[in-house]
Amino acid sequence: MRDFTHARGTGAARIAPVESEGAVAAAVPTRLVYDFAEGSREMRVLLGGKGANVAEMTRILGPDRVPGGFTITTEACVAYMNAGAEPEGLEAQVDAALARLEARAGKRLGDPDDPLLVSVRSGARDSMPGMLDTVLNLGLNDASVHGLSEATGNARFAWDSYRRFVQMFGNVVRGVPGERLEAEIAAVKAQRGATLDTDLDVEALEDLTARFKAIFREQTGEEFPAEPRDQLRQAILAVFDSWMGARAVSYRRINRIPDDWGTAVNVQQMVYGNKGDTSCSGVAFSRDEVTGAPQPSGDFLVNAQGEDVVSGVRTPQDLSEFGEVMPAAHAELMEILQTLERHYKDMQDTEFTVEEGRLYMLQTRNAKRPAQAAVRFATDAVNEGLLTEAEAIVTIDAETLEALLHPTIDPHAEYSVLTSGVAASPGAAQGEIVFEARDAVEAAEAGRAVLLVRPFTEADDVAGFHAAKGILTSEGGKASHAALVARGMGRPCVCGASDLDIDLEAGTVAVGGTVLHAGDLLTINGSTGEVTVDEVALVDPEIGESFLTILSWADDLRRLGVRTNADTPEDARKARAFGAEGIGLCRTEHMFMAADRLPKMKAMILAESEAERRGALAELRPLQQSDFEGLFEAMEGLTVTIRLLDPPLHEFLPKLDDLKIQAERARHDGGAGELAQLEHLLERVGSLHEVNPMLGTRGCRLGILYPEIYEMQVEAIVRAALAVRERTGLAPHLEVMIPLVNYEHEIELMRDLVVSTAHGLGLEVGRDFSVGTMIELPRACLVAERIAHHADFFSFGTNDLTQTTLGFSRDDIEGRILAKYIDRKILDRSPFETIDRPGVGELVKMAAWNGRLAEPDLKLGVCGEHGGDPNSIDFFENAGIDYVSCSPYRVPVARVAAAQAAVRRGS
Ligand code: PEP
Ligand code: MG
Repeated sequence: MRDFTHARGTGAARIAPVESEGAVAAAVPTRLVYDFAEGSREMRVLLGGKGANVAEMTRILGPDRVPGGFTITTEACVAYMNAGAEPEGLEAQVDAALARLEARAGKRLGDPDDPLLVSVRSGARDSMPGMLDTVLNLGLNDASVHGLSEATGNARFAWDSYRRFVQMFGNVVRGVPGERLEAEIAAVKAQRGATLDTDLDVEALEDLTARFKAIFREQTGEEFPAEPRDQLRQAILAVFDSWMGARAVSYRRINRIPDDWGTAVNVQQMVYGNKGDTSCSGVAFSRDEVTGAPQPSGDFLVNAQGEDVVSGVRTPQDLSEFGEVMPAAHAELMEILQTLERHYKDMQDTEFTVEEGRLYMLQTRNAKRPAQAAVRFATDAVNEGLLTEAEAIVTIDAETLEALLHPTIDPHAEYSVLTSGVAASPGAAQGEIVFEARDAVEAAEAGRAVLLVRPFTEADDVAGFHAAKGILTSEGGKASHAALVARGMGRPCVCGASDLDIDLEAGTVAVGGTVLHAGDLLTINGSTGEVTVDEVALVDPEIGESFLTILSWADDLRRLGVRTNADTPEDARKARAFGAEGIGLCRTEHMFMAADRLPKMKAMILAESEAERRGALAELRPLQQSDFEGLFEAMEGLTVTIRLLDPPLHEFLPKLDDLKIQAERARHDGGAGELAQLEHLLERVGSLHEVNPMLGTRGCRLGILYPEIYEMQVEAIVRAALAVRERTGLAPHLEVMIPLVNYEHEIELMRDLVVSTAHGLGLEVGRDFSVGTMIELPRACLVAERIAHHADFFSFGTNDLTQTTLGFSRDDIEGRILAKYIDRKILDRSPFETIDRPGVGELVKMAAWNGRLAEPDLKLGVCGEHGGDPNSIDFFENAGIDYVSCSPYRVPVARVAAAQAAVRRGS
């Protein structure tokens, strides 16, 4: 799991210094360049994931299998960002590393007779597929293209490499629009009657290169740079710049990668997959990257360079055919995949090139995979003896597991398949068609479910992936951009549905005789590749065999208990099915929202005397009692923590402004009876009105002001418990919780109320139930020791604790302030999602510690949203919390995250 800490913004530097563990320093370092042979996987922070893995792979497979090169560090990138200029010493260090590479390769960059060519690739600490820029074939110019042609005896290859270089350099380094260059390829193909890029001959490629250069000149006002060292320098700086480019920034926001990590730059000797029919480029996963099944999978393209495979512009061949096309290279690849997997103890995602029959490995990394593949790999790896259970469980990204609980197409549904494509990311998704990422974002903001439908996707579409329910493309394979990004995000995806004719200009998708438009409903099945226009039902999935195994390991490994936040028997049952060990928070106010209760609740709140209020409460009590009975029965004797009424009462009342308008209207239209009623209501609501209701009459303050409310609730709880015990023989393990306590005397008074009311009905504290408190105000954390004397448990309400510690309104901050705060690097993500460790987290730790000092047996739980967040769970494990409580769907995530936290902690 990714490390995350909150940044402190200074506003001065372009990348603010951050306190995070392993963050790179802003000071100019001395060593900025490392040869591949010098690095290792432990150096990821400095060399980026790609640089560290290439170095490690060079060690494992030997230098003959991995083309040589060097890595410019992430520190160099950060120094460049902060200073806005190349760090001192970089140029000289690159020169020296280049000289070493040239010596090893026996070729020189820019040699007109037999030039060394290099690739220049980004490589952040965490892989960001397709997010940063790559330049291939760097080092070519008008002279060396002839040298390359002579040295290889392959003029077509030389010119194909040159046109690719001019195209990529122009686009990536100097921002020449990709569409203009692609349009030129299409024009030359049309002129010459060619269908594929590979049909273009030498003359056509020369023509194309000249056209690209002309476009470069027109767009940049400069000649295409002919000097290879200048090319290299520009490319390196472009990779640095791409780290702060809009699409990389947006990817980092979504994936919570801090800006201050920077990217490394890898310069690697080129090997050529485009040297004819004995050459190819491909990607290979050590196991099926969609299902996790133990067969290698991937794609390859004969006579092509790596970019062709991942761009999705040409549809590649499936790796299963590789053995027939290139048997020797295939056999070697299969062995290497196993070696790498054994070494890394994780499923691998590799890139390879075959140059005239010889296999080279370009990179390897732990495969990003959807939850089902992650779960399958973990269980298989243990069965195969590759990993222990503890090692296996930490290979899973707990956050993605929720996807396994999301819908699939109803297996009994009958529907006709409109078309099908590659099953690229599992799960079913249904929504209206949108063609543009920005439309997907807009629609999602408006609460509409959409599918993003495009011929192929590019890095700029990523925000649309996030907003869409699923992705459908007509081109590309399992390693296309669409497939990679969708899997990474857990979005269902079907790609390469090649029968679809998607016309972005016209806003239509045509297939067979059917023409669909934006807004039409479509369903995709990312597990089978099917696409349908029928209105099929989606169903909740069952938890599969492998997932159950993982969950049972998680239960053995974890120390933290996992409960659920549930207010209805239905939610309680669902959560139990997902493994909840009890209810950590029942918000009783939700029980008063239903149509048959709201009028009674209103009457209770508006009552003008205690007697009147007691009358209204008497009507509410049996309703509340039957709710509790349902909940207790659903939990069958497990712990149920019931919180007494907490919310500001205005949440149940009509809005003051609305009432004023109604009264005004009644005044106008006559109707004295109605007017009198409205005016009375207006006066009462007005007298209850508060400027800051969140900080007003809520929580235990309600119980202090109107003890009869809490008495009624305790009575309902006790009667329900007795009734269920009578009926089922199973008494729930009851915990009564007092919200929003600030002062020890508040909990003392409320505890007395609960204990004496229950006693009057025959239940004894300590024997039949316990009484505890929410800890959700900073003062409560500071005086935890005093509060603990009156509480059997603390349950941290980290939602309110975050709100009151940070002074951020939990209802407003995310819409108004958060985006800007993330932009300005004050925050990395919402503190309402992941606990603010240095602030709120410290308060939790302090309260836990001091509470236990006073009462060593004090039970400690967390019931705010953070209880279902893996990163926060890791923190709670170390803060000595006993259990977390989260929404039903997060329960499996929390079980696994709790196990991972325990493994990491070594407990
Ligand atoms: C909390 O504040 O964290 C909590 C669980 O209570 P609520 O969200 O109901 O205020
Ligand atoms: Mg709260």
